[in-house]
Amino acid sequence: MANLDPPSGQPVDCPPQLLAPPSGRMSSSPLASRPSVDILEELQLIAAQNLEKLEINKYYDIIQELGKGTYGKVDLVVHKIRGTKMALKFLRKKTTKLRSFLREYSVSLYLSPCPFIINMYGIAFETDEYYIFAQEYAPAGDLFDIIPPQVGLPETVAKRCVHQVTIALDYLHCKKLVHRDIKPENVLLFDRECRKVKLSDFGMTRRAGSPVKRVSGTIPYTAPELCDNSRREGFSVDYSTDVWAFGVLLFCMLTGNFPWEKALPSDGFYDEFVRWQRRRAGAVPSQWRRFSDEALRMFRKLLSLEPLRRCAVKEVFAHLGHGWMLDGDSASGSGQAELSPASSSSSSCEEDVLVDRMKQQTLSPVCNVAQGGVVMETVPSHFASVSTSSSVSSTNSYERVSRDNSSGGRILVTTPIEICV
Ligand code: ATP
Ligand code: MG
Repeated sequence: MANLDPPSGQPVDCPPQLLAPPSGRMSSSPLASRPSVDILEELQLIAAQNLEKLEINKYYDIIQELGKGTYGKVDLVVHKIRGTKMALKFLRKKTTKLRSFLREYSVSLYLSPCPFIINMYGIAFETDEYYIFAQEYAPAGDLFDIIPPQVGLPETVAKRCVHQVTIALDYLHCKKLVHRDIKPENVLLFDRECRKVKLSDFGMTRRAGSPVKRVSGTIPYTAPELCDNSRREGFSVDYSTDVWAFGVLLFCMLTGNFPWEKALPSDGFYDEFVRWQRRRAGAVPSQWRRFSDEALRMFRKLLSLEPLRRCAVKEVFAHLGHGWMLDGDSASGSGQAELSPASSSSSSCEEDVLVDRMKQQTLSPVCNVAQGGVVMETVPSHFASVSTSSSVSSTNSYERVSRDNSSGGRILVTTPIEICV
């Protein structure tokens, strides 16, 4: 999660423009007297105004840690009064600005009506050390946990997952937002067969077109135009970077390997792929030979070298009905019948309802859960063992190493760190 925003020093009741609003749009809410206010700003303003300081142990029993990162942790808790299981995301105040926290919370809340995006309780609060918000608990961990290294998931299972994440990403893109951190660890599971999966972690999400400046680092999911260190100028946030990362994620799911360590000419695997992409014919690189022609056509579009030529994420829908693996377990897209591409466009009316719902909530964990907030369903109660690790080895295979880099330098890649300018 990016945390190098310029110091804000903004008072809590006057949040900065965290996500540049479209100009000239008026909201129908009572806050419409402020010019150019948009839904995300409103959500952040309300969250800021209601942020309470609480003692966590007074309201929650902490059950176990679900994940850990540089900027904080995610714990499974049970609400003491309601008995509801929740995942609390803790962002350390030392490394997270209030504005970053408010942005992640508000974007997550804004996107949560999509059935394939992690649901939210309208709960946000702070302790002395952390900013905290509550999400629904995904009992089967994240997608990284279930990808067998160097083998990959059965095609049927992978397609089920891909279908749902495609709808989630298309929904996000229709809202003019770019996730910017698409990877298996950010796809949460409700069962290990991927019958129900949800996209999560909106810490890096920004409005399409926002200016960002890359500082350092790259991961296998990072698009080539962002890996190029020779580019000194900043970047404009674009949907095509999510599409690239999604293409890499598909490869990982289906093979249990990364296609390359980083999308740079110095990487042999990537270089081979580039030469194949440019020729548009000839021998398929060895690690891509297990895919059908149809799957290769899809990968060519998702992993188009030129961001402008890269397809939209919903292009994947057109390929779901075909066999992807030459030795696959399904010839056509089984396991997807129950899903149909969602209509991603949402009306401003729906947005107003969301804001109103949030306004009715106090953001206090004490009374919020009882008010029929955003989360509707109860989640199964079994505990999955949740890994908190991922990396890439020199053979591009998955291996488990600590996310906090405490495992003796085995991490060969770093998370991109970006500054919003
Ligand atoms: P990153 O390492 O991508 O910066 P982060 O610090 O922003 O991560 P998240 O991605 O939100 O944090 O969560 C870290 C991990 O915690 C996830 O990969 C997942 O394994 C686990 N996790 C997060 N939210 C949930 C949830 N709602 N239910 C179950 N597990 C969760
Ligand atoms: Mg994450």
